[in-house]
Amino acid sequence: MDILYAPMRSHYLKHGVSGECVFCEISKEAHKDEEHYVFYRDEVCFGVMNLYPYTPGHLMFIPHMHIDSPHLLNLEQWSHLAKLTRKGCEMLYAFGAQGINSGINIRSAGGAGIPEHLHWHLVPRFERDTNFMTSIAQTRIYGCEFVEIFNKIQQLSKEFLR
Ligand SMILES: [Zn+2]
Repeated sequence: MDILYAPMRSHYLKHGVSGECVFCEISKEAHKDEEHYVFYRDEVCFGVMNLYPYTPGHLMFIPHMHIDSPHLLNLEQWSHLAKLTRKGCEMLYAFGAQGINSGINIRSAGGAGIPEHLHWHLVPRFERDTNFMTSIAQTRIYGCEFVEIFNKIQQLSKEFLR
């Protein structure tokens, strides 16, 4: 798999409050879920839109626990995360995806954009999306389109992730 995720960090360095891990900040700031485009949260994980989507609808499931590799989660936490990504696939088909890239870039040598905090990508894919992707790859989708996608995913999450 290609490295799916790189430039989000720069956005957060501009907006970050402290030197703390950005995913830990998002984890703790449940009252800012709309602002952070968090569409789902439970006691183990949260789901957030990728601000630099590889394709429209690119999202991530992230454990609240600040760990950088799957083996640092216990089996219960890992299976919880895996179950969410499994449901997330069904949700993305309802969103309109025809295929999905699913995976984790582990630690910086593995290509993780924020290597200190594990995040599992789900990237919806569409037939013949290559040309489109070339134009949007590593570029944030601004404004209404991004918010509309977030609203749609948030709505679908209530049906598919609960
Ligand atoms: Zn963290």
